Amino acid sequence: MTTPLDRSATWPYEDGQPQRYSYARADHPTGVAVEERLGELDGGRALLFPSGMSAITTVVLALCWPGSTVALAEGAYYGTAVLFEHLEPWGLRFVEYDQTGAPPAGSDLVWLEAPANPMLTLPDFEAATAVGAPIVCDSTIATPIDLRPLELGCDIAVHSATKYLGGHDDLLAGVAVVSDDDLWQRLWDLRRLTGAVASADTAWLLARGLKTLPVRLTRQKESAAELARRLETHSAVSVVRYPGLGALIGFDVADGDAALRVESAVRVIENTTSLGGTRSKIESRHRWEGERCPAGLLRLSVGLEDADELWADLEQALERA
Ligand code: PLP
Repeated sequence: MTTPLDRSATWPYEDGQPQRYSYARADHPTGVAVEERLGELDGGRALLFPSGMSAITTVVLALCWPGSTVALAEGAYYGTAVLFEHLEPWGLRFVEYDQTGAPPAGSDLVWLEAPANPMLTLPDFEAATAVGAPIVCDSTIATPIDLRPLELGCDIAVHSATKYLGGHDDLLAGVAVVSDDDLWQRLWDLRRLTGAVASADTAWLLARGLKTLPVRLTRQKESAAELARRLETHSAVSVVRYPGLGALIGFDVADGDAALRVESAVRVIENTTSLGGTRSKIESRHRWEGERCPAGLLRLSVGLEDADELWADLEQALERA
């Protein structure tokens, strides 16, 4: 009834021959079991990583070379842009562009995010495919429940499985899903050589989390839609961003100080980072991202709590805005 958990680092040879599994840095049965499910969800072949960032790093190493230019969705997860900055001494170039339109001509790789975290824009997939470069879509927030990037012309879907896929704030993991076998092999080789391998325990927890993914998302999205509607009418809120994929809302209060007062006043919602878990979370993103997002932007990840209880908490917190 559950995925077997095998924590072995090595498996014995038989008659001097390595068997299907020999050393866990290459792969291990608990990881492969969850990869099969992740592959089915996104309609391709999946590889598991120990974090979203290690999946992203491996994908960049597989698809870029010195002189490559990446067109990166503006307003997307800031860690991706900061990683690309760190790779500039190795000859990587990147330009941020408005993903609701076409990427700059001549890009060697297009990096989309659906929806972008925290600005919550959605990519124009058709315009991205017109460039003719490989396309990666980080669909951490949409999840395969709302979006299957490979069916929209993307070459790779990546996820921070730390978020909705795991869903309980108790694991760090990443996923890359591809349809091309050669690309899958290249990523597999790089994963083995860089050692970016998720543990069997992480894979096991992720397999458990996946069992409730559709049920969690249905409830979280219903509540998110309701809260977004109510936020729209609140006098302290100037902008509400909720594209309807996943259950992440962005809304703006007057300025940075007001955002800090609101996030510190919540009682039911946790004032913390991350998203996608069972507990609702809120934070001002300005503290991490600086000028990349509006000072008054609050990011709300809607969990499984009762929507009225969440609204009551938001209303009392917004009195401080
Ligand atoms: N992609 C997105 C959209 C994210 O929100 C995050 C983390 O917040 C990451 C990637 C990085 O994932 P991880 O924290 O699992 O390394």
